Amino acid sequence: MKVFKFGGASVKDADAVRNVAEIISKHCKNNEKLLVVISAMGKTTNALERMLDAWFEGRNKDAAKELDEIKTFHNNITQKLIGGSLQNNYHEVDNLFIELECMIETKPVNTDFDFLYDQIVGYGELISTKIISIYMQTVGIDNRWLDARNFINTSEDYRQAKINWEATEEIISNRLLPLVNRQIVITQGFIGRTNRNNTTTLGREGSDYSASIFAYCLNAQSVTIWKDVEGVMNADPKRMKNTEIISELSFSKAIELAYYGATIIHPKTIQPLLKKSIPLYVKSFVNPEAKGTAIKADSDIKETSKECYIFKDNQVLIKLFSKDFSFIVESNLKSIFELIANAKVQVNLMQNSAISFSFCANFDERKFENLISQLATMFDTEIIKNLTLLTLYNHNSHQLPDFVSEKEILIEQHSKEAIQLVYTD
Ligand code: ASP
Ligand code: MG
Repeated sequence: MKVFKFGGASVKDADAVRNVAEIISKHCKNNEKLLVVISAMGKTTNALERMLDAWFEGRNKDAAKELDEIKTFHNNITQKLIGGSLQNNYHEVDNLFIELECMIETKPVNTDFDFLYDQIVGYGELISTKIISIYMQTVGIDNRWLDARNFINTSEDYRQAKINWEATEEIISNRLLPLVNRQIVITQGFIGRTNRNNTTTLGREGSDYSASIFAYCLNAQSVTIWKDVEGVMNADPKRMKNTEIISELSFSKAIELAYYGATIIHPKTIQPLLKKSIPLYVKSFVNPEAKGTAIKADSDIKETSKECYIFKDNQVLIKLFSKDFSFIVESNLKSIFELIANAKVQVNLMQNSAISFSFCANFDERKFENLISQLATMFDTEIIKNLTLLTLYNHNSHQLPDFVSEKEILIEQHSKEAIQLVYTD
């Protein structure tokens, strides 16, 4: 049995959905068992986030307009796929939209943003998988749609839910395994459910992780993540010329690349696969015959020595200075880290000197407002936004790439395995 995962770009329009159905049907010709994890279509998650923001801030008209656009986007796809309206051929999809409409008609009762986020944003996955499952059925690819929330049991950490492994493993092996043995299963990435029956999400781009959780609990033979690139590249081809595919990668290198921010795979994806030595393939849905990248146990591969460039945009640099020129000591660091952890801010780089401590993190307005005001009670602060963090991994020399010479570098750190730069354009 295998697990396939298709991301938003692979199902962004009707042709893309047809292509995905073809890849699945080809694979299952010989009665191969398959569980398919799918994300929301195209940029739907971003649109749902905008809708949620508007609703949360009381801009009801904007929220309704966003939802309308999301509905039109999906309607166009379903029409092209099998024609007719949502009401006629896709009642279940229509029902999901009605649920969303009802929800945003009145003010949010709960004021916990992260909780509301999870109750709403996962609809993108529910809608996309319903459409794809119905379409596949109509073109004769027998399949069964399942709600991932019935199998992925999580903590109450909204937007970053943790897996309750024991419960999840038990439900998957007792209830899901027999179903996958019978039929192709189509399910959602990104979402889970708590014991109190609330929907949770596993963090943005979390569908890869979902695929790996399912594979782990099903003891799958492999996971394939289908992408719009030919495999794991040594840099984002949209940002750099002459990028190359890395054909083999060890689990440990993949974890490091993900840690530094390589967006090809969600960072948590590797751990469960590593534990059971389940190989992960990254392949192109545009060119399914191409070999792609195989990520496997360290002993099974020839490790890459290619230099990798990892970019992280939307970074903020926070500089903290002691108010009285005293040294920044362990007790200060303890308070700083406590505040950062409580704010659930992800730190990507840190640097300290005698009287200052700086850290670079992913910027998120909501999280930072509070954090910065708390830090400002203890330190003088300087905040610089709109930065990029570049990590050069496996660097062959200490020479920085040419394009960096035009940038203003705010932090530069060299270690044995990586050079990291924080810069502004
Ligand atoms: N749709 C979610 C997101 O865009 C999950 C995923 O695509 O992996 O973050
Ligand atoms: Mg997505």
